[in-house]
Amino acid sequence: MSEEKTLQFHEMGLDDRVIEAIARLGWAEPTLIQEKAIPYVLEGKDILARARTGSGKTGAFVIPIIHKILEGKRTATEQVIQGLILAPSKELCKQIKENIAQLTVSCKREVQFVDVSAQVPLEAQRPLLLNKPDIVVGTPLRVLAHMTAGNLKVKESLKFLVIDEADLMFAFDHLNDIEAVLKQLPKIYQSFVTSATMWDDVKRLKKLVLNKAVILRLEEPPVPTTAQLTQYVIKLNVMDKVILINVLFRLNMIRGKTIIFVNNVDKGYKLRMYLSQFGISSCVLNSEMPVTSRCHIVEQFNSGKYDIIIASDEQSLEDPESSKNKHTKSKRKKDKESGVARGIDFQFVSNIINFDFPQNVEGYIHRVGRTARGNNQGTALSLVSVGEMESFNKVETKLKGLMPGTEAVFKDFKFDMKQLDGFRYRALDAWKRCTSIAIRETRKKELQQELLNSTKLKSFFEDNPRDLQVLRHDKSKHGLTPMTHLKHVPEYNIPDNLRRVSRISKKIKGNKNAPKVKLDKNQKKRATKTQLKYKIKKADPLQSMEFSGFKKQKT
Ligand code: AMP
Repeated sequence: MSEEKTLQFHEMGLDDRVIEAIARLGWAEPTLIQEKAIPYVLEGKDILARARTGSGKTGAFVIPIIHKILEGKRTATEQVIQGLILAPSKELCKQIKENIAQLTVSCKREVQFVDVSAQVPLEAQRPLLLNKPDIVVGTPLRVLAHMTAGNLKVKESLKFLVIDEADLMFAFDHLNDIEAVLKQLPKIYQSFVTSATMWDDVKRLKKLVLNKAVILRLEEPPVPTTAQLTQYVIKLNVMDKVILINVLFRLNMIRGKTIIFVNNVDKGYKLRMYLSQFGISSCVLNSEMPVTSRCHIVEQFNSGKYDIIIASDEQSLEDPESSKNKHTKSKRKKDKESGVARGIDFQFVSNIINFDFPQNVEGYIHRVGRTARGNNQGTALSLVSVGEMESFNKVETKLKGLMPGTEAVFKDFKFDMKQLDGFRYRALDAWKRCTSIAIRETRKKELQQELLNSTKLKSFFEDNPRDLQVLRHDKSKHGLTPMTHLKHVPEYNIPDNLRRVSRISKKIKGNKNAPKVKLDKNQKKRATKTQLKYKIKKADPLQSMEFSGFKKQKT
């Protein structure tokens, strides 16, 4: 079965300019969804594809659409809007736009596109739409607003409609907007719907937009195979999570970029403040942040400026049914076009840590989908407290059902928390210092900083220097002062079996304050950075199974 030869891009009859762009991207061969979907789209079929994030689904619809646009250009007499791509969040729209840019690199003049999801005045985008780009990308809300304002008219011209991450459209309450958009489309067009699930809501959408669709339920597991993604679970009590996360980072046991997930926004800030007291820097990401800040953070993370992101994945908390009441749940303004875990292309993430366990299997799948992308290896570590066991059991059962043949989805790490007793007092004390007042003050400080940095407000401050003074001198009373002495981990605190791992890590990091690493003669001769890196990889809990620190408890 698996012997079947993959249909290659150059065998699909695609325009040379598209093939050239694919080659420039270094995509050696199509992903499963691309291999299956592209020929059908080229044939003119509607598609409903179940595809997980990271499967290459964007290419699966963008590649054939570009090809068809180029084909149509040979005989076209006028420039019209031919493709409309709807995605649930601004971040996703931006990624799709970037993907289109990469795939049209060899036909820039022929294929025009615009992403209208950015929250700028509609008027500012109007000229872009009046130029009639070939493809328009946007969130349903934004596209509808342009249609209502008369900026976007496609009734006579649209040929392709894509609804990406359809299941998430429901979680984000986008259905009414989509229905309103559909009323502005011509009777006949070709559609492509992607969704991570095929549940009832998606079937409803299928009826609305798809005609005799080819349904691609690819034999692709919803999460990468256990060979590619190692999934650990540690069952422990709530406060032990606080100590463990501290120890994992302070003893440098986690290598590579990491996303830590928590279940609410304040917890995200609290965790960041807590870790920062120990010199562990991270940044937070949540849907209450302005979209430009969020994009900036993801860009910085992708470019290697930060190694740890703490994401508050609220969407996974809200089941689509109850999301109708979500405005009454929180007093704070949430941005409904923002999703943290879903779709965003975090790059080169080695580890996912569920500090809070997600409430359902979709949340879990989308979180771990941030790692092990392409052919990369990844690790997911879930810290599960007694109160979360019910959710964990449900997720485990569902994952087993989704991945037949997999005996154990999670590798169990039972260990003796007593080993970490030396860290307990300071860790819990630092956690207690992160009170809600301290969190509020920290957030206020950050907001002030954003205001001070805002170019838009520059001229306002020039006219109102007093306001600038007030902002500058409004010293926070309750924010935490960093406790630099906590950065250092006294040698006697490190459990014997963790010492080797910790020392080698420090050596690699070149920490000046770190105690000198004693290496034996041979090691001294050969201890190049690369070799040490290899050593730590072998000893790293989250990079290999040979981790010796948390030995299974002897009973
Ligand atoms: P997507 O699922 O569309 O968000 O794609 C996830 C990641 O896979 C993106 O970073 C793409 O650039 C990358 N990708 C998509 N198709 C391919 C391919 N055929 N070969 C290698 N990487 C790909």
